[in-house]
Amino acid sequence: MSDKSGHIIIVGAGAAGLMAARELARTGTRVTILEARDRCGGRIHSLPASRFGYPAEGGAEFVHGEAPVTRGLLREAGLSLQAMAGTPWSFDGAKLSPGGRHNPHEAELQAVLRGLHEDLTVAEFLRRHFAGDEYAEMRHAITRTVEGYDAADPERASLLALREEWMDGGHRNQGRIDGGYGALAEFLVAECRKLGVAIRLGAVVAAIEEDGAAIAVRCANGDVQRGDRVILTVPLPLLREIALPPSAREKAAAADDIGFGNVIKILLSFSRPWWGDRAEGLADLSFLFSDETIPVWWTQRSSDHPALTGWLGGPRTAELAHLDAQGLIDAGLKSLAAVFGMSREIITRELVAAEAANWAHDRFARGAYSWATPQTRAVQAILARADGAVLFSGEALYRGHDMGTVEAALASGLETAQMILRE
Ligand SMILES: Cc1cc2nc3c(=O)[nH]c(=O)nc-3n(C[C@H](O)[C@H](O)[C@H](O)COP(=O)(O)OP(=O)(O)OC[C@H]3O[C@@H](n4cnc5c(N)ncnc54)[C@H](O)[C@@H]3O)c2cc1C
Repeated sequence: MSDKSGHIIIVGAGAAGLMAARELARTGTRVTILEARDRCGGRIHSLPASRFGYPAEGGAEFVHGEAPVTRGLLREAGLSLQAMAGTPWSFDGAKLSPGGRHNPHEAELQAVLRGLHEDLTVAEFLRRHFAGDEYAEMRHAITRTVEGYDAADPERASLLALREEWMDGGHRNQGRIDGGYGALAEFLVAECRKLGVAIRLGAVVAAIEEDGAAIAVRCANGDVQRGDRVILTVPLPLLREIALPPSAREKAAAADDIGFGNVIKILLSFSRPWWGDRAEGLADLSFLFSDETIPVWWTQRSSDHPALTGWLGGPRTAELAHLDAQGLIDAGLKSLAAVFGMSREIITRELVAAEAANWAHDRFARGAYSWATPQTRAVQAILARADGAVLFSGEALYRGHDMGTVEAALASGLETAQMILRE
């Protein structure tokens, strides 16, 4: 074993932690992962296929855009990617129509976006350039996308960060992993174990202390791990719950300028794809967009499993904070009943299994994923520096396209490990 990098302790066995661990362990570096949950994967959380008839995703589900690190791992693991199939439909409150909503001002929007040089928030952008009544529908659609898809607050979200997404068609290029994201996490766990990485589950890190030249990592149950450096990959809100040495604490405080959004996800599995009975011909349904309480739904078109997944993202999830899983499932069924003009009872009769999660209530995530404010890029550069004994890594530190994704986490973990190995 090489002792050049010493003993590295990684906090968190999500995509970033596992990726960093594998990269470091490959060179013979001693690595220990401390993971609070009783499972690896973090915000990757595929449920057992026995539950829903397919590996339903409680957390991450889609591979977005190019995702070179993810695709490289999939090839190594022998896992394949299914391109999204089917037709999106929209419900305008009265009728269902195929296709996304048409924006008559699209060319004008693209021209203004292209001409932007200085960053501003999405809300300010809309006020400054598209305040007129004729743009009301476009403002509504953009606000809904920023809240729902990016889980972001339009009053704080960076326009320049989102511009890339809106201009390169990033929303359209999506796929799903055969076997689910869980299969990818399992591959990384197996690789780590093969390379001698120690993975301790149920290890809730409470404090990190400098102990001379070494570092002591204290767990809530009193266990202490000593090492030379620590890589913290916990979700942003969890940084506030871990006591850190002063220099690391100062760095971590800058993370307040990175947005962190929430998602409510509802998984409904049915005995048959009843929405295909509709006269409109919805057998090919992929995504369904509406303004109902649970506004976005999608099918498992590539596996043909008769399931609908409901999604509500961003600040509006706070309105449902009081609901437990059953309350969220009921809200989802009510939204579907409104969209399809059917009674909730009839839809419920076809229901075989249901699950729902408000990720803000998850003790080791406290939300879903990060998004950029106009200050985020500068803050990420400070946080990602390898200039102390405590390093920061994870999806929120990724400076490329599509932050807040599994790709972002994998790439960030890889970058942190490579920085250590280069020293
Ligand atoms: C509902 C939902 C849907 C999503 N959909 C997609 C999608 O379709 N596509 C996509 O690419 N991304 C999606 N994402 C985002 C993606 O899941 C994350 O960006 C990515 O998995 C984050 O990986 P990470 O390693 O940075 O963090 P995490 O996966 O959160 O890993 C951090 C780990 O740290 C652990 N931890 C926390 N506190 C402590 C502590 N005190 N001590 C020890 N361990 C601790 C956690 O348990 C966790 O395992 C989604 C996320 C959610 C929640």
